[in-house]
Parts: sequence; structure tokens; C-alpha cells
Amino acid sequence: MSKLIIFSAPSGAGKTTIVKELLKKDELKLKFSISAASRAPREGEVHAKDYYFFSAEEFKTRIANNEFLEWEEVYPNHFYGTLLSEISRIESEGFNVVFDVDVVGGVNIKQKFGSEALAIFVMPPSIDELENRLKKRATDSAENIAKRVAKAQKEIEFAPKFDLVVINDNLDTAIELALHNIKIFLKKE
Ligand code: ADP
Ligand code: 5GP
Repeated sequence: MSKLIIFSAPSGAGKTTIVKELLKKDELKLKFSISAASRAPREGEVHAKDYYFFSAEEFKTRIANNEFLEWEEVYPNHFYGTLLSEISRIESEGFNVVFDVDVVGGVNIKQKFGSEALAIFVMPPSIDELENRLKKRATDSAENIAKRVAKAQKEIEFAPKFDLVVINDNLDTAIELALHNIKIFLKKE
């Protein structure tokens, strides 16, 4: 039976960076749940690898068809969601599922799956540092960065609802802490 590992964080906290490192650990048998999103791909992002990129219209049609485990309008007119077909695909391949979802999606998935899921919150060292990272990443417009930073404080309030909070100050330390806890979780019956 597959297990589920959920990562949530304010945008820019370093969740994608941490998840990418964990996916390299073959012994954990992790596969990334490719979400659907209605935003434009960033440079280098590939359809069906980073996200299934749908138009807002197509996304809404799929909501109406009940294709999602969960979905959120994370930013105005930017829909994100987990397709039910993704989970069955990964489970049928015999892998554990890794989710990179917003804080509301993370809490929803945890509530649905209980002890079958480990919910990890990636905490930035500070909001200022989060903003620095988003600026340095240079993938979002100034307007989008401002929206993400404005949302971060509210998102941080969700941290106590998660099984584990990993402060991503030093990246290697954060990866080690996540790895340690995932190993314990995967060993549990
Ligand atoms: P998220 O997926 O949470 O939006 P990313 O993984 O894209 O965040 O990280 C945001 C930016 O911060 C990236 O440019 C990444 O290289 C950088 N970053 C990640 N972790 C750290 C860290 N511990 N210290 C400094 N920069 C980091
Ligand atoms: P980004 O645009 O930076 O890739 O992602 C923006 C936010 O959407 C992040 O907080 C990310 O975790 C969240 N997100 C990505 N996929 C999903 C999903 O399937 N469901 C939900 N609820 N949020 C998602």
C-alpha cells in the first residue's frame, strides 16, 4: 500500500528544492504527484512533468467532471489541483506519493488520509528572507511576488496543523530533518 507525503509552504520557502532532493533517494520509492495548474509555465517548466498546464476554462470543466481529489484557487484565477488519476497512476506503479500543494490543500489531504499521510510544513526563516528568495529566483513578476509575500503570513498560521514543521534556513539541515522523519513514517505499519 502506498503512503502519502505532503509538502506545503508559502511560495518561496524552498519546498520544491527540498522535494527535488528527496525524489533522488531511490530507497524511499517516492514519486511526485504532478498537479494541474491554470497559470502559465515558467521558463524551463514542462507540461506533464512540472504541472499539467490547463487553461482556466479547461480546469473548471475538470472540476465539474469531479476529476480532482482537491483543488484551490490559490491566487485569483490561478487554479491548482490534484487529479485523482495521478494518485492511482503512482500507486499502480508501486510508489509512495509526494504532494507539493498549498497549505489548504495540504490540510485537506491530511484530513482525508489521516495516518496514511505525513504532512510537512516548510517554514521560511522570515518573511523578508522569503521575499529575497522569490526575487533571487526571478521567475515571477514584481506583482506576483508581492501577492505571494502578502499571502505568506496567513499561510504560516497553518503550520500547527501539520505533522512536522521544517525550518528551511540551512538547506542541508532542512533536507536531513525531512528525510529522517520520512524514513520513520515509511517504516510504520
Ligand atoms: P517553493 O517551491 O517553496 O516556492 P523554491 O524551492 O522554488 O520554493 O525556492 C525558492 C528559491 O529559494 C529558489 O531560488 C531556491 O534555490 C532558493 N532556496 C531554497 N532553499 C534555500 C535555502 N535554504 N537558502 C537559500 N536559498 C534557498
Ligand atoms: P507555484 O505557482 O509557485 O508553482 O505554486 C503556487 C502554489 O500552489 C504553491 O503553494 C503550491 O504548493 C500550490 N499548489 C501546487 N499544486 C497544487 C495542488 O495540486 N493543489 C493545491 N491545493 N495547491 C497546489
